[in-house]
Amino acid sequence: MDIIHLLPDSVANQIAAGEVIQRPASCLKELVENSLDAGAKRIQVLVRDAGRTLLQVIDDGMGMSEMDARLAFERHATSKIRDAKDLFSLRTMGFRGEALASICAVAQVEMTTRRAEDETGTLIEIHGSDVVRQEVCSCPVGTNIKVSNLFFNVPARRKFLKSDQTELRNLLTEFYHIVLVYPKVSFTFVHNDEILLELPAGTEKQRIEAVFGNPKRNVYTSAFVDVHTETELVSIHGFVIKPENATKKAEQYFFVNGRYMRHPYFLKAVQTAYSGMLTNDYQPSFFIYFELPPEAIDVNVHPTKTEIKFADEQMIFQILMAAIREALGKFSLAPTIDFDTQGSIDIPVPTDGPVNRPKVGIDPNYNPFHTRGSIYPDRPQKNWESLYEPITPNNQIDPNTPSIPSIPIQWSDSAPIWQYGGKYILLPTENGLLFINQHRAHTAVLRAQFLEQLSKSQGTVQQLLFPEVLELAQDEMALLQTILPDLRAIGFDLEQLTPDSFSIQGLPSQLSNQSALPTLQHILSQVRERGADTQADWREQIAQALAENTAIPYGKSLTETEMRDLVMRLVQLPAYRRGADGKTIVSVLSDEEINKRF
Ligand code: ADP
Ligand code: MG
Repeated sequence: MDIIHLLPDSVANQIAAGEVIQRPASCLKELVENSLDAGAKRIQVLVRDAGRTLLQVIDDGMGMSEMDARLAFERHATSKIRDAKDLFSLRTMGFRGEALASICAVAQVEMTTRRAEDETGTLIEIHGSDVVRQEVCSCPVGTNIKVSNLFFNVPARRKFLKSDQTELRNLLTEFYHIVLVYPKVSFTFVHNDEILLELPAGTEKQRIEAVFGNPKRNVYTSAFVDVHTETELVSIHGFVIKPENATKKAEQYFFVNGRYMRHPYFLKAVQTAYSGMLTNDYQPSFFIYFELPPEAIDVNVHPTKTEIKFADEQMIFQILMAAIREALGKFSLAPTIDFDTQGSIDIPVPTDGPVNRPKVGIDPNYNPFHTRGSIYPDRPQKNWESLYEPITPNNQIDPNTPSIPSIPIQWSDSAPIWQYGGKYILLPTENGLLFINQHRAHTAVLRAQFLEQLSKSQGTVQQLLFPEVLELAQDEMALLQTILPDLRAIGFDLEQLTPDSFSIQGLPSQLSNQSALPTLQHILSQVRERGADTQADWREQIAQALAENTAIPYGKSLTETEMRDLVMRLVQLPAYRRGADGKTIVSVLSDEEINKRF
């Protein structure tokens, strides 16, 4: 008996829809991009209940013929012959011609459309892939698509939508990404009959101001300086905020060849350009547009994601940083002399008028540990150094927990320190010879750091260029949902893909060399095994599992500085003789015991 059969289209479309249309925001993006592709100059977006009830996009683009109106909803139907080199086609690869088919599989869609050359237009209504109505109608040139009751036939997906507030924020975020690269197209965004955005056609600068220049967001273009640089590799232009106007919550946007992108590495370039100019928790706002030949960029494997890889990232990093430095320099006095008067001595240095100097703040690279270099004047760069927060050296053990000896252990800075068997650190102290298990010691140190970050929600995220997918069984899903806020707090960037999978888009920065999947699976199995009834419980399990996964392994040889550093950090912990799992970290061989052997 044959067992292979073709899925009915409606089922296939629903499956495909799960990938293309994850939430109202992805639906909006597809619709608006279609309108832009159709050459629209004016696009109206009407939303009800954050897109749950209604998402409507009205454009004045080229419209469709009667035949095309029907075909547009078929899977793999596309009128767009795209250049293979085109970033867009690369980015949407795999979903070409799938958007409308996917949307109509999971919603009730009504569309009217008319081309300029046609007297009459077409009305078509589709409910969950079934055409329920198609007729001639009178309507303006362009296309008007109404998507009602998204996921009406996929209760699981509907259930996973967030609050209206969150979904509306997602819609707006997606909308910003588009409108900031199409300033010449006018847009309106209406939510529950309230006009949230009215964006007339204009320049990029006017568009930014129109989107963000309201009292709430406080992003005025007068607060920005222009960035501009042309090199053979890349051309960069845009706007970066004057340091004195920086805020704690920043608007940070990169675009490449007319597409929004996330780029943590280039974000570092921006931050580096500002270093020393912003006080600690202030962030620079910026809108930076890159243009470069499509061959020089490699688009991410996951089409719904926004990370992009560049062939010459390090060069572009330098170019970007230099361009921003120059832009910032140009408006402050001191660097103006450097940049503008070199080789042109007859340009007077401005001496009157208001002079804006960048605010001098705290150097983010400042490390108090380094300045107290009496113990380790020239510490070599260690590959696991970054796993630590800086600490104050203190070679006194302050015993205030029952598990450690009642007399403080002391040793001198000049005492030797050795590694034994790739596993133990040996340190002579006044109380005897200390044996320290390197892996367990490091685990304890990291555990404390992760716990602290969890309690303060201070985890930092390292974005993954290639997000991974975490598939979960039902009980694991429930568990994950429980601990999700804490996973995010520690730096995991997770987004639900389907009812039983998550995409891992970022990791705690300490874990950047780890592969994402095993780490998360380890956490989940630990939380399940060791039990987690309260938040305090699962935070401990998360911290412990992360620490175990990141701690230096046995067999890793350590330099003297690394060993001293580790011991120093270990003894800062309130209880360091035993790990959270009860295993011995530090064992002391007393002089008495040693003497007994002879
Ligand atoms: P794709 O955009 O990848 O071609 P879609 O499913 O998004 O696939 O759209 C299918 C086709 O429907 C498009 O190729 C286009 O011909 C037509 N279409 C969709 N939206 C519009 C619109 N707003 N105006 C004109 N044509 C449209
Ligand atoms: Mg499309």
